[in-house]
Amino acid sequence: MLIVMRDHASLQEIEHVVDHLHSAGAETHLSQGEVKTVIGVIGERELIYTLDMEGFAGVAEVIRVLKPYKLVGRDFQAEDTVVRVGSAEFGGGAFGVIAGPCSVESSEQMRSVAASVKAVGASMLRGGAYKPRTSPYAFQGMGLDGLKLLREAGDAAGLPVVTEILDVRDAEVVAEWADVLQVGARNMQNFMMLEELGKMRKPVLLKRGLSATIEEVLSSAEYVLKGGNRDVILCERGIRTFETYTRNTLDLAAVAAFKVLTHLPVIVDPSHATGRRDLIAPMCRAAVAAGADGLIVEVHPDPEHAKCDGPQSLDVPMFAALMDGMDARVALEGKHL
Ligand code: PEP
Ligand code: MN
Repeated sequence: MLIVMRDHASLQEIEHVVDHLHSAGAETHLSQGEVKTVIGVIGERELIYTLDMEGFAGVAEVIRVLKPYKLVGRDFQAEDTVVRVGSAEFGGGAFGVIAGPCSVESSEQMRSVAASVKAVGASMLRGGAYKPRTSPYAFQGMGLDGLKLLREAGDAAGLPVVTEILDVRDAEVVAEWADVLQVGARNMQNFMMLEELGKMRKPVLLKRGLSATIEEVLSSAEYVLKGGNRDVILCERGIRTFETYTRNTLDLAAVAAFKVLTHLPVIVDPSHATGRRDLIAPMCRAAVAAGADGLIVEVHPDPEHAKCDGPQSLDVPMFAALMDGMDARVALEGKHL
């Protein structure tokens, strides 16, 4: 950390800052010019992040050179983390495709979609039982009954299942029924929940917050790894911008950036990113080219009658068309389905 003092800061102000740093256990190195003084601060990351020096008299600027995360960084672990869930794999050359409806609606819907997506190469089934809806009057999901239907459909088709955990109080019950626990965009910075998931031994699918920076996503993932759970898959699902034609703006540069910054697998959700079924296939192709380790796509057997996110859901033939040739596209990037 660098502390830049105001021009002509008094000796007293400089000493006060240095004394505070020393008493906190940090080491300091002064660079003193006639006008400007810069204090270099060295210490453990945990210590540096507790030092709030901005409010001290004479301090002009505090520059943190350390990243706010450690365990998720490539500096800490150079080789890719591979998250394995049954036969599904993400990272280290493995490309996984998660497919299924936005929300679990019935046994028939889940069983038919599970069998259909499995037949064309999906490696995991999705389906929300607890839905984070903007309006409290919108369909909120089937809850525990939905979890059971998701599990049954996954087992019948031979697919592991992922579902969203909306509240830390549901952690145990969701973990009992699902193979992967999804943290939705709206909960990306629910730090209590992330800490709880860190203690669990189920992989976590962490979706990027609606307005979260790349560093904030990685910092949230750090909470889970810090708790001891190394199996985190990051998901770029679009961010809020001024654009309204699409539901969100798919930030593919973030995918490439994540691949540089972290060893964790990164997947792309073109469904929530675009909100439009006609844009799903091109964005999937772009995601593969950007270096993604997988996709999560909403597929519904009858999108027109979906209780949630019908306009962005592919029907089964559209998903089959998307998967046709996917292995070759993925192979071009040196990966395998
Ligand atoms: C979802 O995947 O169903 C979902 C609600 O996504 P997000 O949290 O990215 O909005
Ligand atoms: Mn949805």
